Formats: sequence, structure tokens, C-alpha cells
Amino acid sequence: MKVYNYTDLSKSKIEELCSRQIDDDKLVEERVAEIVNTVKKEGDQALFNFAKAFDKVELEKLFLDAEELKAIASTIPADAKKAIETAYQNIRAFHQSQLKTEDKIETMPGVVCWRESRAIEKVGLYIPGGTAVLPSTFLMLATPAIIAGCKKIVVCSPPQNDGKTNCYLAYCAVLLGIDKIYLTGGAQAVAAMAFGTETIPQVYKIFGPGNRYVTTAKTMVQNKVAIDMPAGPSEVLVIADTTANPSYIAADLLAQAEHGADSQAILVSTSKEIIEQTLLAVENQLAILPRKEIAAKAIANSYAVLVDDLASAMNFSNEYAPEHLILATENFEELIPLIINAGSVFLGNLTPESAGDYASGTNHTLPTSGFAKAYSGVSTDAFLKKITFQHLSANGLNNIGETVETLAAAEGLQAHKNAITIRRSRKVGRPESE
Ligand code: NAD
Repeated sequence: MKVYNYTDLSKSKIEELCSRQIDDDKLVEERVAEIVNTVKKEGDQALFNFAKAFDKVELEKLFLDAEELKAIASTIPADAKKAIETAYQNIRAFHQSQLKTEDKIETMPGVVCWRESRAIEKVGLYIPGGTAVLPSTFLMLATPAIIAGCKKIVVCSPPQNDGKTNCYLAYCAVLLGIDKIYLTGGAQAVAAMAFGTETIPQVYKIFGPGNRYVTTAKTMVQNKVAIDMPAGPSEVLVIADTTANPSYIAADLLAQAEHGADSQAILVSTSKEIIEQTLLAVENQLAILPRKEIAAKAIANSYAVLVDDLASAMNFSNEYAPEHLILATENFEELIPLIINAGSVFLGNLTPESAGDYASGTNHTLPTSGFAKAYSGVSTDAFLKKITFQHLSANGLNNIGETVETLAAAEGLQAHKNAITIRRSRKVGRPESE
């Protein structure tokens, strides 16, 4: 891990450090375009063929139904079942609290405006299942979808070697009341949900993380469906002062690094000693990690920045706009108001990112690659649309009428003006609804 001194960094070097190194995607784009077109043309048959080609499994059918899911779920170990249930309770409590009714606002006497939420009727959830199957992502996506009230929740996840799904995903399905998992992964799953096939229903919005094939496909189908956010490799930025614990920081950096070779783990510290001790702890902890080869590549891709004070650390962090921001300091309270760009924030030395990844209640589907400058992570809101309403009483029509007529005339839109004038010139005493 390279160490930089913040005061020595030019503006262009800071920009370079904050830009994510994404390899040439041309080849992936070409492959994904071909997969998407094939699914569009051939439907289910393409999904069977891609399962054979990419997942090395010959499927008899493209989904598991409620009975099959129940049978697979029954094999889950008791400790995993309990952990999934606890995580689910916390995720549900936090996302339930996001459902809010907004006030009606009388903008002028007799002119009342308000917004109401309606669930997106059909949503598609992608649960990754290539190198690791992720029940946590299932909980993070399906829980807010259910709370929002989405009527149709389509869940796709790649088939495993036995042509099924594992007991953890199956148990999540049973717990959440989801009665089908479609056995398709990668770009073909995204295409199937965007365009529909004989078996897989078309949806209006697609959610979920995934590898480059999944995320490239999500970007490609955006003229047909909405997506939660553009996504890239996962990342963490840790801000640490002398009150931090280097072993904890090292564990957090490695937790990120083990996701994939293209993950980034950045340390920004006010203390040279903390940086040195952390780098040493990273070496020691890395040596005994099962996924050490992947994590080592990600760590080689990462760096540390020495800053003069915490305000400079926050400036760098806001420019980087991390998916995950850990404030490894006892002085985190004073930093909170300075945070402008981050996906999700972890406060103090006893709050690791892992807590939010799995079970504290916040969502782990978050904006990466600097998109935290403009995007929020997935929440209950992401499954809702907000519809605006307004009602004008006779008094309201009188009060707003001249303003609208004048503006419509200024824009040369006579019919707009007429829509007001015709109502204002109605016979007084006739019912308002006429
Ligand atoms: P995945 O489910 O995303 O992808 C597996 C699928 O990729 C396969 O089913 C196959 O169809 C397709 N595929 C594989 N090789 C292919 C090829 N050569 N050509 C075309 N398609 C191919 O599972 P994964 O690969 O394990 O990746 C999961 C990703 O999700 C990781 O990068 C992980 O970091 C990310 N993730 C991110 C978050 C987040 O919130 N940001 C959360 C969880 C996971």
C-alpha cells in the first residue's frame, strides 16, 4: 500500500487518486450486448443455454417453487437460521421507519398540494451467486420491496452446481414469503427481467449488485427499465486519528479487500504511527486469510494518505465519495457535519462496516465509484414513486388565477391561459365541480 502526504499532493494527483481504476470494459460490453440481444430474441431457451455455458449446469426448469424452496430451506443450520432472522428483524425495523406520510401544504388560501407514495408494481432483484451466494443481499433488497408494497417481486440468482439454490437463499425466500427463485444469473438475468421471457416476468425496476456482466447489463437496459444505481467494485475509506486502533483498521481494510481484486481500501490518517502500525497489521492479518490472494491484489491497488488534521481528512474523503466511510476516531461527532459525500457511515472504533454489511439494519446496496456524490443507497424510498396531488377550491382558483394567466400569456401558451380563464368566468353559484 503506497503512502502519500496530503500537503504534497497536487490537485490533479488528488483527482487521479480519487478516480477509480476501471479496466477496459470494451470486451465485456460486447459480450453483454450479445447476451442481452440473445435473451431478447430467444427468451427461455437462451437462459437454458447460458446456464450451461457460464454456470456449467443443465437445468430442467428455470425456477424453484415454494415447495422446493421449503425443502431446501429445511437443511439450513440452526445458527445460520437464527442469524438470518436477527438480521431480518433489524433490516425490517430500520426500513419500516422510512415509510412516511407527508403533510398537505396550502401554498395559497384554497390551493392545496401534497405527495403520496405508491409502490413500484413490479421489481426485479438480482442476488449474486457466482463466487459466493449472498443471502444478506436477498434480505437487503427484498425487505424494503415488501415494506414498500411492491406487488410483483421477481428474484433471480445463478443456479449452483446442483441446478438449485443453496439453503441460505432458500431460507430467506421462505422467511420473506417469496414463492419463487428464478435460476439465472449474470447479464442474461438482467436482460430477462428487463424484457421478459416465457417464464420470467418483465419488471419496471431492477435492483442489486453483481459482477461486471451484471452491472454492464443494468447500464445497457436503462432505456427499457429503471435501475437502482450504477455500480462498480466495492470500496471503503477509513479516517483515523491517534484514538484509533490499528488492528481494527487493518481488519476493516481487509474486509473490503477480500470482496474482489478490484476493491479499494483507503486509509486517511492524521498520524504517521497509526499508518505504519496499520500497514504492519494488514500484513499479519492478510497472511492467514482464506481469500488472501484476492485481498492482496486489492490491497496492492489501495493506498494511505497522511493529513495534518481531521478537516483535511474530510476534504479528501468528500472528493473520493466512498461507498463506505469509517470514522475510526473517538471524535466522530465533530466530523459528522463535515460529511458531504458518502454511501454509508460507520462511527467510532467499535462500529465496523461488517455490522452494516449484514445485520445492523442499514442497507448494504450502496453507490460506488464516486456515485455517492449524487446517489443514495437502496432504501424503502427506492421502491416507491412519489405522486403529487393538488386541489383548488373556488377561492384557490381566484387566488392563483391571475398569476397562471399572466405566466401562460408570457410563454405564448394561450390554451394554458384559457384553462384558467374559462373557469374564472363561470357563473357564480354553480357547483365548483362544473
Ligand atoms: P454474480 O452473480 O454477480 O455473477 C455470476 C454470473 O456471471 C454467472 O451466473 C454468469 O452468468 C456470469 N458470468 C460469469 N462469467 C461470465 C463470462 N465469462 N461471460 C459472461 N457471463 C459470465 O456473482 P459474482 O461473480 O460472485 O460477483 C458478485 C459481485 O457482487 C462481486 O463483485 C461483489 O463485490 C459484488 N457485491 C457488491 C455489493 C455492493 O453492495 N456493492 C454487495 C454484494 C456483492
